[in-house]
Amino acid sequence: MSLIEHAIVSSQASAKHHDPSLADKPAPKVAIITCMDPRMNGLLERFDIKPADADLIRNVGTVVTDDVVRSLMFSIHVLGVKDVMIVGHTGCGSEMFTDDSFEKHLHERTGVLTVEPAKFHFYTDVNVATRKQMLKLRSHPWIPSEITIRGFVLNLATGELKEVPMEGRL
Ligand SMILES: [Zn+2]
Repeated sequence: MSLIEHAIVSSQASAKHHDPSLADKPAPKVAIITCMDPRMNGLLERFDIKPADADLIRNVGTVVTDDVVRSLMFSIHVLGVKDVMIVGHTGCGSEMFTDDSFEKHLHERTGVLTVEPAKFHFYTDVNVATRKQMLKLRSHPWIPSEITIRGFVLNLATGELKEVPMEGRL
């Protein structure tokens, strides 16, 4: 059985003891931007944050793209989130290529080149990359200055969570 089939069967079983309050309006307290990497799936548990308290916004490489900003606008300006946490991690797939070498990889695999996505946001230093995402949010005109933006790197080898300062030495 594929995991999708497994999910369908499990969801039917879960529906029997479903909590209807899940249909209430969400009230997250924090928005967490992080990587789609499955090793980050336990992040809320690690942080001891209840699922209902967090908007999780994820993509490969923890990149603040226009679509991440689009989601964040909902978190901040509709749901009242005041705190934004960016959590990168060590050993990310975003360190495996450069934008050029990944485009070449896709070209070799598919035989075609396309115009989009124009950028893949690969990087060589997760601290620098995380700071870049923080700065992109801090300067965004639709993110009020009273919104807290803090960035971190989770070391997957040690479990250490290290804060990335907005400025100064990394
Ligand atoms: Zn990653």
